[in-house]
Amino acid sequence: MSQRVTSPEDVGRFYDQFTRFFEITWGDSIHVGYWPAGSQEGTIAEAQVRFTELMMSKLGVRAGEHLLDVGCGTGEPAVRLARTRSCQVTGVTISPKQAEAANQRAHDAGLSERVRFHRANAMALPFPDASFDVAWALESIFHMFDTGLALSELRRTLKPGGRALIADFIVAVPMSPEDEQFHREMMQTGPMHSVPDYQRLIREAGFELEETLDITANMMRTAVLTREALTSKREELRQAFGNELLGMLDATWAKASDLGQKHQGYAVFLVRKP
Ligand code: SAH
Repeated sequence: MSQRVTSPEDVGRFYDQFTRFFEITWGDSIHVGYWPAGSQEGTIAEAQVRFTELMMSKLGVRAGEHLLDVGCGTGEPAVRLARTRSCQVTGVTISPKQAEAANQRAHDAGLSERVRFHRANAMALPFPDASFDVAWALESIFHMFDTGLALSELRRTLKPGGRALIADFIVAVPMSPEDEQFHREMMQTGPMHSVPDYQRLIREAGFELEETLDITANMMRTAVLTREALTSKREELRQAFGNELLGMLDATWAKASDLGQKHQGYAVFLVRKP
């Protein structure tokens, strides 16, 4: 069965339309939450902050370093990072609306001097070679139709010795081709990979892999709370999307989210450009 390829434009339209959905049901960032083993504490928004802070400490950005944020959303993680570390940030998103919202967030935080966001395609970055000291891609590469190209653009724009953190959904149990097609179209994903395949792609792109962290068990609660939010945030969602679209979301989100829970995991890769 031939699969339809998700284009960057598809992803841009998806986020132009649905960023509000994530703001209502999740919080300011568009990535999973993190719950320490055995804990069910906190809202999604609180668990997202735990996730961002964990990524910040894993990557260990130092004062004066310039970070590339690949797939920056509306800039919450980048602004949080820049508030606590005196670093510079350049972020890219394929969604024009997100780029605008992210720049507004940096402005509101008084950080627009050193935190800038652009609408650009991460598979064809508009930056010269060796522009950045450090980079992260928080839950963005799974949207890109050519993982290898996304990784080699990341490598190209990093300085030699530069570090990067990639946090992404991975395939735990493969889906049937029909389910994969449905999930791909609903979530606008590119091809997804098992941990060993992802590790191979990282090495093939010319990175040294320093650490792999499987945090599937720590993020699973995100889907449970998202389902609850579809009920508890009903009126806000209705106002934002109208009855018809909300009806469609009800039908398709549950199925896509079920597939995600059964088949996907989540991993964090720490890599270095030699
Ligand atoms: N990292 C952010 C947002 C994650 S949502 C956060 O954690 O809050 C996924 C992000 O990836 C969106 O901002 C989307 O625009 C971006 N993205 C997906 N494909 C892209 C591409 N080809 N080029 C640039 N950004 C892309």
